[in-house]
Amino acid sequence: MTGVPSSTHRARGWLDQPAGDINAVVGGLLRDLAFAQPTQPQMFGYKRAAAAIFALEQPLTEMIDEAGALPKIVGIGPGSARVIAEVLDSGGSSTVERAIDLSGRRPDIERRRALRQYFLSRAEVRRILNDSRLGGPSLADYGGDLQMHSEWSDGHPTVIELSRACHARGYTFAAVTDHSYGLKIAGGMSMQEAADQRRAIDEINKKNRAFRPLQGIEANIGTDGQLDLSPAEARMFDVVLAAPHARLRRNDDQTARMVTAVENPSVRILAHPRGRITGSRAGVLANWETVFEVAATRRVAIEIDGDPARQDLDYMLARGALAAGCLFALDSDAHTTAQLAYAETAIAHARLAGIPAERIVNCWPLDRLLSWLSDPASERRDARTEYGSLHHA
Ligand SMILES: [Zn+2]
Repeated sequence: MTGVPSSTHRARGWLDQPAGDINAVVGGLLRDLAFAQPTQPQMFGYKRAAAAIFALEQPLTEMIDEAGALPKIVGIGPGSARVIAEVLDSGGSSTVERAIDLSGRRPDIERRRALRQYFLSRAEVRRILNDSRLGGPSLADYGGDLQMHSEWSDGHPTVIELSRACHARGYTFAAVTDHSYGLKIAGGMSMQEAADQRRAIDEINKKNRAFRPLQGIEANIGTDGQLDLSPAEARMFDVVLAAPHARLRRNDDQTARMVTAVENPSVRILAHPRGRITGSRAGVLANWETVFEVAATRRVAIEIDGDPARQDLDYMLARGALAAGCLFALDSDAHTTAQLAYAETAIAHARLAGIPAERIVNCWPLDRLLSWLSDPASERRDARTEYGSLHHA
């Protein structure tokens, strides 16, 4: 892992971000400051402040007035405001570095810093979407979301609310992908519940011809790579995603587990492939080149999950999947209708990675998407694209 700062370094330089993601730098420092606090309430205060900065629609540099003053930002108190002022002034924050030294927790905080690599702030996502120098998919190319959660597992919205919100975003299709029964912690659906949900989705289909809701499922990848879904059960769904939710904090190689999942004939999308969480865990360690090679051969799409805390794959690792000839799925992983906007985070990573819309299943017309879902071999494999070395996370 690169990008780990030396203990004397200031913020500038330790984040290997696209140049100038000031909100990611400030948000990261506020997270550091949170973990340097002596009490839980103080920690939560700075965590909230960090989240507020990451979620801003505009970069802080555009929010200051001519006198250098910031407007009021909900969740930002005087302590956080000082950090912002220091970063705008110098690129780093001596306040944060001092607090880390005083806390005695520098090793843990630097471990967390290293786990924030290649995450984009919301403002940076918006900048990338509007940067015409970048290739890759635009918002207008995006036809529908293939990972979102409803009240049938751990999401909030009904399938009707999700469908309406997707249609309102201009999508022509979308897949509701609740957790399967193996993932009890996320309220996984029983097969009986899945049959009831299918009826609810069929009702929407009957009423709205301009928008096609699909019934998907997010199957759990077991420690041996097997799914918590039999082949017969998998056939009941329009699309099967497979995703890891356990063994995400190990140092051992899990290439075999991931290859087994991708080789499962039911699987169309490998969702949040690593299972990383920003500042918390790196997720699955694997030889991704090998996993991508198998996925490309079997025409399994590799997901870029747009949940701001996941961003998995990120643009760096996605370049490796692009070079291997993979297909991609760009999804929000929304658990509320407002979170459907997370698809934009995934699109931004795809633009940074230079993935052509042609390789992205969400950007295909519905009939092509449905053909691929019923028979992945209907999609010919692209020639491998030339690319430099693959970066392992
Ligand atoms: Zn998941």
